[in-house]
Amino acid sequence: MKTLFKNGSFWSSRSELFTGLLVEDGRILATGPDALAHSADQIIDLANSFVMPAFGDGHAHPIFAGREAAGPKVNGLQSVAEIQEAVRIFAEANPDQPWIIGGAYEAAIIEGGDFDAHWLDEVVSDRPVVLHAVDHHTIWVNSKALEIADITSATKDPAGGTIARREDYSPKGTLREPEAFALILDHSPKNTIESDVRAIKYACAQYLKSGVTYANDSWLEEGMAEAYLAAVTSGDLTIDMNISFLANPGEWKSALTKIEKLSAQFEPYKNQVNAKSVKFLGDGALSSGTAALLEPYLDQPGFSGLKIWKDDELFEAVTEFDARGYQIHIHAIGDAAIRQALDAFEFMQHTNPARDRRPVLVHAQLISAEDMPRIAQLGVIANMQPLWMYLDPMNKELILPRLGEARNNRQYQLRSLIDSGAQVAFGSDWPVTSEVPLEALFVPVQRVGASGGSPWSPEEAITIEESMTFYTAGVAYQNFREDEFGKLEVGYRADFVVLDKSPLEGSGISILDVYKNGIKQAR
Ligand SMILES: [Zn+2]
Repeated sequence: MKTLFKNGSFWSSRSELFTGLLVEDGRILATGPDALAHSADQIIDLANSFVMPAFGDGHAHPIFAGREAAGPKVNGLQSVAEIQEAVRIFAEANPDQPWIIGGAYEAAIIEGGDFDAHWLDEVVSDRPVVLHAVDHHTIWVNSKALEIADITSATKDPAGGTIARREDYSPKGTLREPEAFALILDHSPKNTIESDVRAIKYACAQYLKSGVTYANDSWLEEGMAEAYLAAVTSGDLTIDMNISFLANPGEWKSALTKIEKLSAQFEPYKNQVNAKSVKFLGDGALSSGTAALLEPYLDQPGFSGLKIWKDDELFEAVTEFDARGYQIHIHAIGDAAIRQALDAFEFMQHTNPARDRRPVLVHAQLISAEDMPRIAQLGVIANMQPLWMYLDPMNKELILPRLGEARNNRQYQLRSLIDSGAQVAFGSDWPVTSEVPLEALFVPVQRVGASGGSPWSPEEAITIEESMTFYTAGVAYQNFREDEFGKLEVGYRADFVVLDKSPLEGSGISILDVYKNGIKQAR
């Protein structure tokens, strides 16, 4: 069956606009005048709407987003009182839920970002409460959670993590980095394959509504690959996924066999799930003062953050996974972590034979001038989060005092990266920030957020067509699927979004319809 989509303004990665698209069996059969000249079984009139390729999400955590959505939702709340109220309502509505786990609160509403367990105790004291902060490098818990985990003034900070303290050294209720979360969350009920499949279903539905038809799950923990296997076999996975296993210092060697085994199990489903990438965490985050810097933080003299890996071990691990054919993703935010990641990529490329490997530098937030040209030189893809590229409360209240004006303003040098020749792909980092591409597309163009204000480092602004390309073809390239996704050309998947207005003419755009494989998706 051939379907002709006509009277649209079709845009495909910086090409000239064209007016028609012919689709058969989920693929594009013809475009422009060729499409209009064909006979078709069905004609859909797009009434002069703007059409662009469906979006890809190059870096996100869909299962975490789905898990978090099963708890109280505190996103965007502007005071502790509002958060308390949301938690209280959720607890009342879910009396049998033994643990209350939700998110994501704005840490910048409290100076310094240390939230007190007692504030949560006021609304729930009989069972543990854990809330994730929007940066997802921080949690805020109630006293019951501290008690169950036996965290007291005698508990030492775990390696790689911190426990915020009161003056008497007792735990305050805020913990930073996964190593510290584990002290608490290891006691919480385990996620099951069934609950994670529900999380995947939720994530797919959210994505399809937003026009995203292929995404990345950038960090698999215990049981998550199994959940993707279950979801792809049951048909609950309704978008395409690229999933990354997680390599941890000290553990990656013993995890190799298991990763190889799990990866092989996806072989029959490789058109839907690509399980050939590995994620390394190079450092923490600037907002929590744990990103690794070349120069110390201003508020902690002599402290430059935490590199999660020692150079030698990172180089060895990256090279080993690369030799086995995995694509390497390294999370690197601070300039020291970025340098270490680039050094690791360089070492890997010198050690292993040449191949099309497309290493990914995730976040690439604060790049030193010396390292800027190396990204393009090493063929590294910079995966960046467009929704972060303005002076939001986190950058203004939490990061600026830690970095100082000049260093703070050097974050997200996207224009410089493009001009240096680097490949760029966009990702939402959902649930850290919204998974909806239309909320993010104009941020790197205007360098302001939804509430306006003056542009942040406007010399690093990009064009709207660049932004659209990085959220489509850029992600397709990162995922080795540039012949299938991200463009509206003959042979490509008929995945596209119909918009009420052209982004090329200004912001304030909404999605009218989303098509996947030529089929209209429920919204
Ligand atoms: Zn992430």
